[in-house]
Amino acid sequence: VLPTEPTRRDLGRPNDLEAPVNSDPDHQEDLARIFGDRAINDENTLRTHSRDQVGDERYYASPATVVYPETTGEIVELMRWANLTGTPVTPRGAGSGLAGAAIPVPGGVVCNMSRMNRILDVDTDNLMVVVEPGVVTRTLDTVLEPHGLFFAGYPMSEEICSIGGNVAENAGGGRAVKYGVTADYVRGADVVTATGDVLHLGGKLLKNVAGYNLLQLMIGSEGTLGIFTQLTIQVIPRPRERGVLFASFVSAHAAAQAVSALKRRLSNPPSSLEYIDGPTARDTNEALPGSKRLVIPDAAAFLLVEIDSNGDRDLEADLNEAGLIIAAEGGVSLSRGVSSDEVERAWRLRKQVPWWVKQHAGPQQAAEDIVVPPASVPQLVELAEDLRSRFGVRIPLYGHAGDGNLHLRPMKPDSMDLVEWSDLVPRILTSLYQGIAKMGGTISGEHGIGRKRVKYLAAFLDPVELRILRSLKETMDPNGILNPGVVLD
Ligand SMILES: Cc1cc2nc3c(=O)[nH]c(=O)nc-3n(C[C@H](O)[C@H](O)[C@H](O)COP(=O)(O)OP(=O)(O)OC[C@H]3O[C@@H](n4cnc5c(N)ncnc54)[C@H](O)[C@@H]3O)c2cc1C
Repeated sequence: VLPTEPTRRDLGRPNDLEAPVNSDPDHQEDLARIFGDRAINDENTLRTHSRDQVGDERYYASPATVVYPETTGEIVELMRWANLTGTPVTPRGAGSGLAGAAIPVPGGVVCNMSRMNRILDVDTDNLMVVVEPGVVTRTLDTVLEPHGLFFAGYPMSEEICSIGGNVAENAGGGRAVKYGVTADYVRGADVVTATGDVLHLGGKLLKNVAGYNLLQLMIGSEGTLGIFTQLTIQVIPRPRERGVLFASFVSAHAAAQAVSALKRRLSNPPSSLEYIDGPTARDTNEALPGSKRLVIPDAAAFLLVEIDSNGDRDLEADLNEAGLIIAAEGGVSLSRGVSSDEVERAWRLRKQVPWWVKQHAGPQQAAEDIVVPPASVPQLVELAEDLRSRFGVRIPLYGHAGDGNLHLRPMKPDSMDLVEWSDLVPRILTSLYQGIAKMGGTISGEHGIGRKRVKYLAAFLDPVELRILRSLKETMDPNGILNPGVVLD
């Protein structure tokens, strides 16, 4: 049962920037004793840490202090102190999350992991790397490239996000359709628990069934069950070649149908299958600098198909095969190629879409991350069309169609006032969530529950599962110190 008409208050907390609940000067002194000048409470730092990339600014809330640990021992001390003083702690990677999961409780402590950013081991025999969580995901890729290796679970925000954030959110990305998500590659972790113990989980092992799988429970726990201080990640041989095909469709439904046709019939399975609705692709393309634009016609929808190879395939032939399938499904191949310039050109447009939408969607944005069984993508596209006409607002739809995971983002019309808008958004979401529930879908494929989807979670989980999750949280964090209000209320 979904909350049918959430009130405006349900959408988010009031803006708490001005009212930290805990600005006790003793606490600042305690933290300075542990972290020295790495316990910071100047206005700029607090403001930066009062938000992530969540689109509804009503979730923003200021911490009292931000600490920057450099060792596991400091985090152990932090958590023991936090339990003694009852101070909430929110771990933070790069703050690129889209669900408010790195936003603290007002007056809590943010534990910014960016200074724990060493790559400790690149083990080319075991195909494993051992890293600290603050490593920027793209930096890891740059280090792996000369070894011909690849961390396949990366998200599309790789230039800005951290490995710790990827693991804590179980991020997926543009190539998950072939390679899976972050959880598929995490083999071991050192974790500081909510009560300040240190857990060593897994290792450089490809198989491990010794006991319950606590490692997988930690992955995707959004900083609510423990703080990762070291991660062992499996890497794979880097695909040597990539080719892309960018195609337009006069019917959005046909584009969505083509997704499963491509997955079913391509002899070299696609490494990416991304969807962008027509107006969003066109407007994003127009906003790119002239030299970086694609030439794209009016169309209802576009697909970006990527195929890769380790040198054992004729990629041009594979792209031709994709072109034939697309033509049979009513699409037109606009550009196709294997040169890095062509690959970059298509991806530049796709990667720019969320930024274009963020810039134009107005205040109190809902950046949705629904996931449905892959074969239901055509129904999802129809549902988006239905929401557009029912509510009379523009709703961009784009994302990882091959995974059934699309992002849907209502945009506030300029003419609509904020009060009307903040009443309308929850109504759109309720209709959306009811629609995907009928398809067997759920509310987040990769961005997580964070703060923004907490109130909807119960409607999508089995009550017994929810009860077990709550009791796990209570067991692992008896004082409710670690990232309270995220995932579970
Ligand atoms: C333009 C854009 C594109 C994006 N594309 C994708 C995409 O393709 N796929 C995808 O999955 N996501 C995507 N995201 C969302 C986001 O980048 C990912 O969720 C990313 O994994 C967050 O990493 P971060 O380091 O920024 O984490 P943060 O936002 O800082 O934190 C996210 C969560 O991780 C927790 N956390 C961080 N570090 C630790 C740690 N060391 N220990 C325990 N908990 C920790 C935080 O408490 C929080 O709950 C995108 C975001 C943007 C802005």
